[in-house]
Amino acid sequence: MNSERIHCISLPTPFAVGDVNVYLIESEKLTLVDTGPKTDEAWASLKRQIDALGFQVSDIEQVVLTHHHPDHVGLSDYFTEHSVRFITMAYNLPWLKKDPAFFEHHDAFYLTVYREMGIEKFHKKAMETVRGYLDYSCTIDVDVVVEEGDAIDGLPGWTVVETLGHAQGHLSLLRDTDGVMIGGDHLIKHISSNALIEPPPIGETERPKTLLQYRDSLMKVIDRNVIKVYAGHGKPVEHPKELVHLRLLKQEERADDILKMISQEALTGFEICQKLFPTIFLKELGLTMSETLGHLDLLKRDDRLKVVEKEGVLYFQAKEVAKHECR
Ligand SMILES: [Zn+2]
Repeated sequence: MNSERIHCISLPTPFAVGDVNVYLIESEKLTLVDTGPKTDEAWASLKRQIDALGFQVSDIEQVVLTHHHPDHVGLSDYFTEHSVRFITMAYNLPWLKKDPAFFEHHDAFYLTVYREMGIEKFHKKAMETVRGYLDYSCTIDVDVVVEEGDAIDGLPGWTVVETLGHAQGHLSLLRDTDGVMIGGDHLIKHISSNALIEPPPIGETERPKTLLQYRDSLMKVIDRNVIKVYAGHGKPVEHPKELVHLRLLKQEERADDILKMISQEALTGFEICQKLFPTIFLKELGLTMSETLGHLDLLKRDDRLKVVEKEGVLYFQAKEVAKHECR
């Protein structure tokens, strides 16, 4: 029997995704999960809704951040004058304090990716776009670093589930007694979450295979018997296991579509991206390239394509299907 209450607070964002949900949990410690983007509108809205619930923002004792994206963390800056504890996974730390050394590593990482995809010329603009998003993010120090399986002080019954894929360093909170998950952007009802290509932690160079990670993290929803997901955007997911199966299936269908595209000729990542997303590939380059590269990773893992490098650019082609003939 859970006596604690979870309140969904929906806040406006300046982003195409629309409103973001943050969650206030009335537990041993009054806990906020995610904070919203750093805008005055979002702050006013958050204050108003917390007042309406009978609290003040200064009553909030701790903030758990699901991942580092600005629409989820930016308002954390407004909490620093109240002595809240910020809790998140280690990967997010340099993002949350805008560490210049990390962003050097970040830009260098994307330069390699963009080169391999045949779109080096878009790198500079893409990095400027990221900097623009960061205006809505925060500059905070994290107090408590958590990882898979950790309990959180003041939040009895909840455990941290690492749900990497949409973002590196993405966590969800799971209440084991009834399978309720607060899932950030891990599983969203009305849109399929994008497994964004993001840099590995500083000091590492290998590109995280984000769609493969994401598929593994989706399986945790089934393995951990999650019954309901409070999502970072939109309504709660009431049948999360069914939605996971649908998401996994759609990814496999998209991988098959890509395989057909490269059955006759080898194409670059960018050429495949243009064929997949003929109208929005350039406007949403970060999203569309992540989708493309993620599904190529899936095909590669299943040994269904070969990759050839020419002058730093990668070309992808379907492997011949072996013919098993009985004589
Ligand atoms: Zn996100």
